[in-house]
Amino acid sequence: MAVYSQKFYRLLYEWYEINHRVLPWRETSNPYYIWLSEIILQQTRVAQGMDYYHRFVTAYPRIEMLAAADEDDVLRLWQGLGYYSRARNLHKAAKMIVDRQKTKDKRQKTEVEFPDTFEGLRALPGVGDYTAGAIASFAYNLPYPALDGNVYRVLARLFDCDEAFDTSAGKKHFHRLAEQLLDVNLPRLFNSAIMEFGALHCLPSSPDCAACPLQTFCRAYAAGTVELLPVRKPRPTLRDRYFSYTIYICSRKTKDKRQKTKDKRQKTKVESGNVYTLIHQRREKDIWQHLYEFPLIEHASEAEWQSYQPATSSAAISLTHILSHQRLHARFFLVPVDELPAIAETIAVRWQELDDYALSRLTLKALETIPV
Ligand code: SF4
Repeated sequence: MAVYSQKFYRLLYEWYEINHRVLPWRETSNPYYIWLSEIILQQTRVAQGMDYYHRFVTAYPRIEMLAAADEDDVLRLWQGLGYYSRARNLHKAAKMIVDRQKTKDKRQKTEVEFPDTFEGLRALPGVGDYTAGAIASFAYNLPYPALDGNVYRVLARLFDCDEAFDTSAGKKHFHRLAEQLLDVNLPRLFNSAIMEFGALHCLPSSPDCAACPLQTFCRAYAAGTVELLPVRKPRPTLRDRYFSYTIYICSRKTKDKRQKTKDKRQKTKVESGNVYTLIHQRREKDIWQHLYEFPLIEHASEAEWQSYQPATSSAAISLTHILSHQRLHARFFLVPVDELPAIAETIAVRWQELDDYALSRLTLKALETIPV
């Protein structure tokens, strides 16, 4: 049975025409906007990504503006979305594209040219095969498949393929299946439709097979294996880490010399009645590089973490935060002080101005529960 018959495409496109969501990045062929949306939507649901897409398009309507932005501002706009390397790569790629144009055209009179080949897109930081295929097809209607998680699931079921899709051999195999299925005459429409079909109809659990327009083409449906597919490789064990954060709370009228640090946003005059705290920027090549958080002690073991208690803390908030390969166990100790202590590499900030800094997701979660 050939899955890729004309009838298959007709049924898929009819379904898409009736059911697709109106998404701003599908209503444009501007490669810069499509690229922004694709980077934002990596590991992010559409409902959450929509707000960030609008933020970026509003703040940086042209790629030159993103390239000229301060990295801290880009990270702040990204705040809450997680996986901050995506924001750093976004910024790096924008600068690469604009710098390349400047080399070509010293006075930069012409419009910045966004890469318009699969290879050119794939060479950008943060752009893998999926993202390059998506931009190539959505912006330029080029015949490249775009395999996101939804498409892997649809392919696994249509072809009744039980190979793990997230191994390198599995990826190659699924890529071949996607190339077989791709409608080379209408790649933009095909990729939009198959992705949307996976996102809205061929769901991970209990897909509506009874009402599926592609049912007669679905080998997994015929074989009764729908719920078993797709297959993933076994998950890696998570590494546990143990963090103790100290949140200093200082409300005394005080003239803090650190207000004069070189941080250009640190212009606030200390005023009576305001609450101040200390934060520091993570520098090391680890999670959340360049983001801000409260002063941290990382413990070597769970026992050490459990027994740690700062002398004057009034309360502690416990949170667990899961990253792709790590499970973070964190406690945030609230420590009221008359004067902020001198701790290397920290800066004093007004509590109300914490929002001006790009904070880690874990820090944001803690702030939601702190009664200051
Ligand atoms: S029949 Fe079920 S499993 Fe097969 S494509 Fe349709 S919804 Fe997906």
